[in-house]
Amino acid sequence: MAKKQVYFFAKGKAEGNAEMKNLLGGKGANLAEMAKLGVPVPPGFTITTEVCTHYYEHKRSYPAGLKEKVREDLKDVEKLMGKKFGDPENALLVSVRSGARRSMPGMMETVLNIGVTEKTIPCLIKLSGGSRFVYDAYRRLIMMYSDVVMEKAAGIEPEEDQGIRKQLEKIMDRMKKAKGCKDDTDLTANDLKTLCSQFKARIKEVLKKDFPDDHNEQLWGSIGAVFASWNGKRAVSYRRIEGIPDEWGTAVSVQAMVFGNMGNDSATGVAFTRNPGNGENAFYGEYLVNAQGEDVVAGIRTPAPINEYSKSEHNKDLTSLEVGMPKLYKELFAIQERLERHYHDMLDIEFTIEKGQMFILQCRVGKRNGPAAVRMAMDMLKERLIKKEDAVMRVTPAQLDELLHPIIDPAAEKTQKVLAKGLPAGPGGATGQIVFTSPEAVQWKGQGKKVILVREETNPEDVEGMRAAQAILTARGGMTSHAALVARGWGKCCIVGCGALHVDADKKEVHIGGQTLKEGDWITLNGTKGNVYAGQLPMVDATQENILLNSFLKVCDSVRKLGIRTNADTPDDAKKARQFGAEGIGLFRTEHMFYGKGADEPLFILRKMIVSKTDEERKKALDELFPYVKKDIKGTLEAMDGLPVVVRLLDPPLHEFVPRDPARLEQLAKDLNITMDELSKRADNLHESNPMMGHRGVRLGVTYPDISRMQIRAIFEAAAELIKDGKKPYPEIMIPVVCDVKELTNQLALGREVYQEVLAKYNLKKIRHMFGTMIEIPRASLVADKIAEVAEFFSFGTNDMTQMGFGFSRDDIGAFLPDYLQKGILPRDPFQSIDQEGIGELLKIGIQRGRKTRKDLEVGICGEHGGEPDSIEFCHRVGMDYVSCSPFRVPIARLAAAQAAVNN
Ligand code: PEP
Ligand code: MG
Repeated sequence: MAKKQVYFFAKGKAEGNAEMKNLLGGKGANLAEMAKLGVPVPPGFTITTEVCTHYYEHKRSYPAGLKEKVREDLKDVEKLMGKKFGDPENALLVSVRSGARRSMPGMMETVLNIGVTEKTIPCLIKLSGGSRFVYDAYRRLIMMYSDVVMEKAAGIEPEEDQGIRKQLEKIMDRMKKAKGCKDDTDLTANDLKTLCSQFKARIKEVLKKDFPDDHNEQLWGSIGAVFASWNGKRAVSYRRIEGIPDEWGTAVSVQAMVFGNMGNDSATGVAFTRNPGNGENAFYGEYLVNAQGEDVVAGIRTPAPINEYSKSEHNKDLTSLEVGMPKLYKELFAIQERLERHYHDMLDIEFTIEKGQMFILQCRVGKRNGPAAVRMAMDMLKERLIKKEDAVMRVTPAQLDELLHPIIDPAAEKTQKVLAKGLPAGPGGATGQIVFTSPEAVQWKGQGKKVILVREETNPEDVEGMRAAQAILTARGGMTSHAALVARGWGKCCIVGCGALHVDADKKEVHIGGQTLKEGDWITLNGTKGNVYAGQLPMVDATQENILLNSFLKVCDSVRKLGIRTNADTPDDAKKARQFGAEGIGLFRTEHMFYGKGADEPLFILRKMIVSKTDEERKKALDELFPYVKKDIKGTLEAMDGLPVVVRLLDPPLHEFVPRDPARLEQLAKDLNITMDELSKRADNLHESNPMMGHRGVRLGVTYPDISRMQIRAIFEAAAELIKDGKKPYPEIMIPVVCDVKELTNQLALGREVYQEVLAKYNLKKIRHMFGTMIEIPRASLVADKIAEVAEFFSFGTNDMTQMGFGFSRDDIGAFLPDYLQKGILPRDPFQSIDQEGIGELLKIGIQRGRKTRKDLEVGICGEHGGEPDSIEFCHRVGMDYVSCSPFRVPIARLAAAQAAVNN
């Protein structure tokens, strides 16, 4: 433990500074910094977090010398304040506050007004000029101290609503009722004095101890209680959620009390150096005359605006600080300007005016919403207050997300009970009427209604309904389930794996959180958190800030090293992604052309091809399919003209496309000129017990080379035609589900043949292209050196790599993931954020071995992780060339890549 245990601060001098948050906590470090700058902070000292650690390591005792050092520093405070702690003639009061390295708002304890005792009360009355003020301070001390020190820190756990503080509040309410008072402020000095006696009697009765009437006992009781509150229930749960280590400990700041409730020349308030709601560069805040800090937050009185700018509907008739106390306002204004210039960020400042004298009690970097964060970053960059590397760190990916999707009005959401929770598969908010089938979703939308498609799980036939719906809610499935993937691709709100949901599609009702909802009932989803609410909640749209957003993202682009591509399967999505800043396509999933709008005909032909029995039948169907595939690929290559487009050959097991609907089956049988019996026999033959590991990807191409040939021809012909039109297509042909180099060699041989044929047909010398592979099977990573002898690029399919690396089915993880998370077996959903420890190692091995063989091997990622910030940082660190994600995630990826570059 460092020798120094206590750090002194007072206006003009301080032993600590803002850099010492680890030792002094955020509050203590900023108090020291402000004091150094000459800001008028009430003098005080901070006991370090190391003392807290010692306290816990030594059976809750203090290190030697602490008490003496505290006494010394307290003497210096007394000198500066011209008062003495515990002096019956001229008493000083102090506060004791907690402060961890990272802000843990409201999680630990504070005790104010320490030093009010029967002995000091008379002089306090004389000094403050009123006994009402003193008895009010006393009753606040008794309430806080009995709760924080005598009950919580003593480890007493009263029954719900039976805590000492609650009991005292009840006594106070009874008194108010008896006296016919509405507000606390209506109680007289005598009332308060009586209350203090009643409080003390109740404390003795309940806690079997006297309320301490000694100032030193009060001080050390409070210090101990703040240290103890580090391990209070609230603080411990908060640390678990926020990932704050238990060893950090809290610091304790002891500071001279100043009072905003000493009459009409006193006040207290909270201000922000810029507007945290919209980011405008204007001083913003509110205050209360004759009040203590807790009154501002408690919402008993309506605070007044500090200036004209801060006026709102609720407070426009109240006198602003600027008008009511112009000199003090000017002083405060100058201080906030100075602090912001010093800290290079928007600050949240707490101030108190005691009898016409300004004090700053606290400053910290202010919380802000998404639009405000972007605006402040750009403004401060322009003002040269920060550098571009700072600017990109000022907006979190979640804040950026707020700008890209409508969200539930946060004020309305706060008042709602969560009906059920699922996996947050598609961000943003949505509200709509429940429908249970895809055709109904389409039909209701046609009637101008907003619907939410609620399903047990989705399959490819639901795509139309998913498109028509505002949002999708499913009981089963994981983050990379079909519904999640498709919804994210469209920027749609989506919750999957909501286990509490029991869908009865026949009865058209859903049982959820003890409630039964029927078709047409309204529900609201928060797809960012995975929360489901009953009823219709208002939405807010933060997407207007686009010009600013674009310039912010350009700044990100100038900082990042990773390329950003998109997963897109249609020309429309490709165009959209390009507008969002995508620099190419990292994954074009050919099979997506068989889902959704305009898919009927190609899907029908594909089905014919799938159930073909002879090569002839298959070849005929493939010839029919060819123009559709070529057209789709051509449109996308054109939309991405000049940029690389990774086109993946057909990936999923074929039986996924066999229709289930009897009408469609009949039509298929008719067209093939076979009986229904024969058709179902053929369909049955395609059945696999484990399709994810079955006849899919490159395995299809090995068995049926014509399927690969048709696709490769479509790619080269589409490119050739574009070249003839003066365009610059750049296809990268990708073979999926590869586990051995020989699979690739096999496919490449036929690919090269087709290439030569197309060159000849179009009389071209060259079509710029690459042949490469997906690395999505663990074995492929291990033999990547061999694979790279043939593959010119790798793209990591981390969805399947996670599935096969963990042995977790990506479609069924919803059944057990919540237990794994709750029991701490997994820290996060590995389908959402790369499991760096395990799957990450597989990726590293793949990259190292691949590049050992081929130095200039292009490496990217196209699994869903490519749009998740922590995974993007990982991709940056392991030296990938690009990440690829759905179009709506592209801006987030640009930001996350820039932050990764700054952090590393
Ligand atoms: C993957 O496996 O990561 C991938 C991108 O492919 P798909 O999700 O289509 O299986
Ligand atoms: Mg895959």
